Amino acid sequence: MLLLRHKLTEVAFRRLKKKVFVQLMAILVMVLFIIRLLFPAVAQRGEAACVPEADGQAQPAAVAASPEAVAASPEPSDDPVPSAVSPQPELRQNPRDHFHPEYPVVPDLDFSFKHRIFSVSSYRDCFPDVQDVHYPAARANGVRPVANRREAETRKSELLYVGNNLYYAIDPAMRSSIPYLIPRASQLLQHIGRRFLDSLAVKQIPLHTIIVTSVLRTEEDVARLRRINGNASEQSCHRFGTTFDISYNRYHTVCPPGEAGRRAVRNDSLKFVLSEVLRDARAEGRCFIKYEVKQGCFHITVR
Ligand SMILES: [Zn+2]
Repeated sequence: MLLLRHKLTEVAFRRLKKKVFVQLMAILVMVLFIIRLLFPAVAQRGEAACVPEADGQAQPAAVAASPEAVAASPEPSDDPVPSAVSPQPELRQNPRDHFHPEYPVVPDLDFSFKHRIFSVSSYRDCFPDVQDVHYPAARANGVRPVANRREAETRKSELLYVGNNLYYAIDPAMRSSIPYLIPRASQLLQHIGRRFLDSLAVKQIPLHTIIVTSVLRTEEDVARLRRINGNASEQSCHRFGTTFDISYNRYHTVCPPGEAGRRAVRNDSLKFVLSEVLRDARAEGRCFIKYEVKQGCFHITVR
């Protein structure tokens, strides 16, 4: 009998402990909830601590998320860049929403009116610069031709390595040239890549980066090309580090990790936008441009 009584007391005590514990937890949750309601900054401060600090060069958020972004070019950008990234809203499910004004793809874009795609009147007429125009500029601005790839490695005081970055991709199939440019040409390439992204963002077209298909040709590359194709010019501007080709029918789709696919964009639309960007760069006196029909690219020499 005594044992039974003892057992009953123990069970009652356990139940009481459980009840008290649940009540205490409920009170604690209520107190925390009230604190959060009264001082919302408490929760925000915790979240902000997870955002890494900007390292002086803020990048477009959707682009920064690209898995292809390997390394930024070492040269400074010629464009003003914002010095800090504002806290970003959550990634939205619909890719088009990434271009919502609140989403800081490029913070200073004006979304107050619809930006149309105009393209240019004629590719041939707008990008007519022939070899006779390109070559003197390449000779005047460029470096002494590079014998081969080994020598290119020793010429880094004159030439910059241009690898994949946020603003452009180097064609992985590029075999007849190596990704080196003089600093001014590298800056021009970055300028074009950045303007292209800005234009896509403001026109609410899913982001793509340009693909560079040809850069610096060494003397060995030129000789090999001449063996393959007798018409390949020995006077190629690509020997001086001033000249690069940008494809107009292939683009690299920028897709943040975890996002399933993007709205298909007709390459024509991307070509129209790219032609607007190039027309402006040429009009600003930054470069000479030839529309290459057979190679499917714009051949560009820095001025
Ligand atoms: Zn070219």
